[in-house]
Amino acid sequence: MRYTKLFLPTLREVPADAEVISHQLMLRAGMIRKLTSGIYTYLPLGLRVIKKVEKIIREEMERAGAQEVLMPMVQPSELWEESGRWDVYGKELLRFKDRHGRDYCLGPTHEEVITDLIRKEVRSYRDMPLNLYQIQNKFRDEIRPRFGLMRGREFSMKDAYSFDLDEEGAVKSYQAMFDAYNRIFERCGLYFKAVEADTGNIGGSFSHELMVLADTGEDAIVSCTECDYAANMEKAEVNPDYIEKEEYEAPPAPMEKVSTPDVRTVEEVTQFLSVTPKQLVKTMIFETSSEPVAVLVRGNHEVNPAKVKNVLGVANLELAGEETVLKLTGAPAGFAGAVGLSIKIIADRAVEPMKNMVMGGNEKDVHLIGVNRGTDFEVSEFADLRLVTSSDRCPRCGKVIEIKRGIEVGHIFKLGDKYSKALSATYLDQNGNERYVIMGCYGIGVGRTVAAAIEQNHDKNGIIFPMPIAPYQVVILPLQMRDSDVVSAAETLYNQLISQGAEVLLDDRDERAGVKFKDADLVGIPIRVTIGKKSLKEGQLEVRLRATGETELVPREGADRMILDMIKDLVRSRQ
Ligand code: ATP
Ligand code: MG
Repeated sequence: MRYTKLFLPTLREVPADAEVISHQLMLRAGMIRKLTSGIYTYLPLGLRVIKKVEKIIREEMERAGAQEVLMPMVQPSELWEESGRWDVYGKELLRFKDRHGRDYCLGPTHEEVITDLIRKEVRSYRDMPLNLYQIQNKFRDEIRPRFGLMRGREFSMKDAYSFDLDEEGAVKSYQAMFDAYNRIFERCGLYFKAVEADTGNIGGSFSHELMVLADTGEDAIVSCTECDYAANMEKAEVNPDYIEKEEYEAPPAPMEKVSTPDVRTVEEVTQFLSVTPKQLVKTMIFETSSEPVAVLVRGNHEVNPAKVKNVLGVANLELAGEETVLKLTGAPAGFAGAVGLSIKIIADRAVEPMKNMVMGGNEKDVHLIGVNRGTDFEVSEFADLRLVTSSDRCPRCGKVIEIKRGIEVGHIFKLGDKYSKALSATYLDQNGNERYVIMGCYGIGVGRTVAAAIEQNHDKNGIIFPMPIAPYQVVILPLQMRDSDVVSAAETLYNQLISQGAEVLLDDRDERAGVKFKDADLVGIPIRVTIGKKSLKEGQLEVRLRATGETELVPREGADRMILDMIKDLVRSRQ
């Protein structure tokens, strides 16, 4: 491709509304443009990268035995009512009516549609195992679309669905996808980790996320420094053997009210009353689709809403607003406590050994000290309800853990018979018995993978594309467009490389060398070939690797073969 023909609107300035580096660079390198919140157009360069990732995904999905289909984006509400998700999916599901007043949604995921297909088409044990996938745009009306393609509202996803006769087959299908995902992200040149994950709205029994490690990641990942335990913070278990009990040996004291005017936060309360956060209990009031619930955690811990949801078995959970807190506790936020509370109370395990606790008094500007369970209040259930902290221990081996940030690029789920039961997707087994199909589902965010790759591969000058997903493999910069020798050397190399299958961008603009260098760095093409008057006189070209800055003068003769070899090496190895 010739630069003068390419629609590549680069930007010098950092766009004001782009917070993370991948978003800034994708805008600056002319890869994407925003239409409206969370909705983007892919420009030629961006689309080339997306297609590269898609190609790797397709190759690995086919290798794992999956077959490509394409399902509609518009889905009828009836299917979602059958699965029970029309009511629970929440506001991310964009719903609308057609001219006949029938309800539809834009597909945020396709379990319903694919299960409907399978219940109609798959009848016998002979039809399975089966794995169908598609690469298609999803729509989720995200509450906070941000970071460009990382969290869009309309975004491209690869979603695959497996169908098996039994649990054993489903485990095999899951493992095949787990392996395929590892190969896909490795081939994209990414550093990532597979972690145990919560199953969220998709449901099912078991799941892993593939996380690209990056400081800007929205997810926290807990991993063991010794064994191979790794989990998303939402899912990460607290090791119950390491709950401190020794600090709570004092004999129970009588409960007392203390005046704490305008003292609300953990920091304020502990300072005002000269106690440590370990003596304090935080009472958080949540609303669910059925009843409100109070969740107790120790002052130095945070509630993990995903765990609360699982323990209560509810799909929706929201922190109660000021008004509800006032109604339920009789006090403004910051003064809630368990004593005298008439709603259900559940508590984190770390609260169980606590004695002489400090907590809100359900009265404005009042806290209670010397609060003891049994005499002053009761808890209906103790469970692991909090976020892991770095002072916790590995739930598997008890060794030290670390917490890092990651970007979720892929997510695989074992669904079991959740959807096949809801939608009656059955088959006849060898003995003629009707049985439920056992399912799994597997997603990859295509645009998010590109954004994650840029988060991991950039410097102050721009993107550093890993070779396998680079929009072009080589950029040729003739420095003097008015020098016929320079131009003809550039044209010759360009044609030689293209005819041997390389993907080449020829910067044929009549621009200063500085401009060409800057744009080449910004766009991040892995191999740069500079052709200048001076070195050309000595029959030489300059070849530079974007990733390392390694520069080499090479004879013009045979340069094409050398560059082709470099491409091959860079596709195989991570830089
Ligand atoms: P998140 O927790 O980040 O919202 P999710 O758990 O809702 O993700 P899944 O339903 O598992 O996501 O979707 C599969 C994949 O689709 C994710 O792993 C991610 O790569 C991608 N994805 C999900 N939501 C978005 C989005 N809003 N924008 C871009 N990619 C997304
Ligand atoms: Mg989501």
